Amino acid sequence: MEKNVIKFSHCGKAIFCFFVPEQCPECGVSFSGKRLEEAPVSVPNPFSNGHKVLCAFLVAPTEANTLREFNGGSDLHTGITDTNGVVYNYTKNGVCRDHQGWERCISIPLVQPDMYNLINQWDQYLEKFSSAQMWDPLCQSFHEESHNCYSFTLTFINRVLATQSKRALSKDEFTRTFVLPRIKQASKYSLLCQEISKNHFYIVNSLKEDVRGGQSDGD
Ligand SMILES: [Zn+2]
Repeated sequence: MEKNVIKFSHCGKAIFCFFVPEQCPECGVSFSGKRLEEAPVSVPNPFSNGHKVLCAFLVAPTEANTLREFNGGSDLHTGITDTNGVVYNYTKNGVCRDHQGWERCISIPLVQPDMYNLINQWDQYLEKFSSAQMWDPLCQSFHEESHNCYSFTLTFINRVLATQSKRALSKDEFTRTFVLPRIKQASKYSLLCQEISKNHFYIVNSLKEDVRGGQSDGD
């Protein structure tokens, strides 16, 4: 099970950790038997098990599911799930239908729960789309830049939008609006986890203004 990050405040700092410690890592005051002024809050985990998010767009690091290097520059792999959690993704060898390997990724649901017609046809639609010549390595080959996993997922999303009489999204628009903000969030969360794994805590000033303004010669 993945550890979840929690955050609490003490000494004017925001302290991130996996467990509330016995004492404050900053001032050493013991918490045992006492309550913190504010209850610790859990930091939302931007990752989910892609196989459990149905009819969704998934983004995963290509280095399967580790904490490592999930910054915007790393290689990302994208896919689409069917209603059984099978992940359709386009690679050099054509379309893969993965039953595992996407346990830790960013997911963006593509349907609303009340879109019964779309959900009913989803699997058939995705299967048919994936069988097109366009994704057959014998007909058209994979290209790192212009004909890759992202082309596959975005083309599919645009086909779905078309069935809903909605306009298509450009690659830039889709990336900027839906993908980048989530990647940034995931990347921050990963860094937080790395820091906590290394040092048990990640501590930042939570009252930047006060600290800067009030810290002249001490009291
Ligand atoms: Zn403290």
